[in-house]
Amino acid sequence: MSDQNDDAVPVTPRRMPKAPIEKIGGRKLKPSTLMMGHGYDPVLSEGSLKPPIFLTSTFAFEDAAAGKRHFEGITGKRPGGADGLVYSRFNGPNQEILEDRLSIWDEAEDALVFSSGMSAIATVLLANVNQGDVVVHSGPLYAATETLINKILGRFGVTFLDFPAGASPSKVAALLEQAKAQAAQNGGKVAIVYLESPANPTNALVDIEGVAEARKQVFGDEGAPPIAIDNTFLGPLWQQPLKHGADIVIYSLTKYVGGHSDLVAGGVLGSKGHMDPIRAIRNTIGTICDPNTAWMLMRSLETLELRMTRAGENAEKVCAFLRDHPKVDGLGYLGFISDASQQDIYDRHCSGAGSTFSVFIKGGEAEAFAFLDALKIAKLAVSLGGTETLASLPAAMTHLSVPDDRRAALGITDNLVRISIGVEDPDDLIADFEQALGVV
Ligand SMILES: *Cc1c(COP(=O)(O)O)cnc(C)c1O
Repeated sequence: MSDQNDDAVPVTPRRMPKAPIEKIGGRKLKPSTLMMGHGYDPVLSEGSLKPPIFLTSTFAFEDAAAGKRHFEGITGKRPGGADGLVYSRFNGPNQEILEDRLSIWDEAEDALVFSSGMSAIATVLLANVNQGDVVVHSGPLYAATETLINKILGRFGVTFLDFPAGASPSKVAALLEQAKAQAAQNGGKVAIVYLESPANPTNALVDIEGVAEARKQVFGDEGAPPIAIDNTFLGPLWQQPLKHGADIVIYSLTKYVGGHSDLVAGGVLGSKGHMDPIRAIRNTIGTICDPNTAWMLMRSLETLELRMTRAGENAEKVCAFLRDHPKVDGLGYLGFISDASQQDIYDRHCSGAGSTFSVFIKGGEAEAFAFLDALKIAKLAVSLGGTETLASLPAAMTHLSVPDDRRAALGITDNLVRISIGVEDPDDLIADFEQALGVV
């Protein structure tokens, strides 16, 4: 986020000649207001109210000295990234404006955008993990993240240890001690503590504050591994992990932030110190998002709060209906938590229950299939966070490749239907679920 008093990184004059307006009088403007214009001055683009899409592979330097200065930022000779536009694998106006706006929600110092959630996660791991290192992670993780950590990094001599999402701080501390010993034996370090909360598809919450406490207990303040968290399910509106001790926040922007099921992208946020090495890897391998996608995401950010608020309210109404239905065997919804320690984590970390939840249909796969096939408004598709309501069966779809015993341990049963509620009329949605349950 650009800050007038921050002298670390000069702002690109081409796109931001004026100090950004973040306050009126003493009043700090809210994210929903800042999404309409922050980081963009129409005067620089022929008065175009919306930023044009900058379709170019490279940018002309003002003079040779500027070229050298910009490359000092790209190569990391100077921290904080380039102070000018260079080449579209490194940066671009659309991506930079998007990064400025994205960082506002989490009050992050810096942000980076990526071609997908997975390319964001892969770039974070490449920037932090070396041969012999140990990755500690919460479980379950998004299936592709789990593959990346457990299988692909394993090819490069990296090992991992995991703890269940709801684990107590003392259990996490014990695991970190074990990881420290394992790393010493392998000639490496504990590289990163990687969290996902709420977990997919169980909605189990991780105690971020508790993990940060455990890290402090085991590593002190110097040389501690960063805590990264995939905040796709509740962020950026309902959970802001940087405020609870996380260092790096990761998003699949494909989901709530994109919000219209029409793009794939990722984002990573945190301090400049944590973003610099990640930016350096992104510069090297080219995992930045393209200008068109960045433009679409700026469009999406303008309605982020409206969409997420409505979806959250809809989910609450739908879940209140589903909870008492005779053909429903339980709900995995953060609005109705039955476990006291999970409720405690929720109360400390979350400001809303989200709109993605699990519903257990009485019976097994056959009954769940009958329910899914009978839905008329809700579409049968994976993904989440879009304007339209989606339903899927993780055991038969996103988690089909997970071995049976691990699926059982994670509570991913054959009757667990995952639903992402959209912004439709809530009573229409309830009517749809009612008739579909009637078919079961
Ligand atoms: C979708 C998703 C991802 C992967 O994001 P893509 O944009 O599909 O690459 C990672 N984590 C979570 C929690 C997700 O839901």
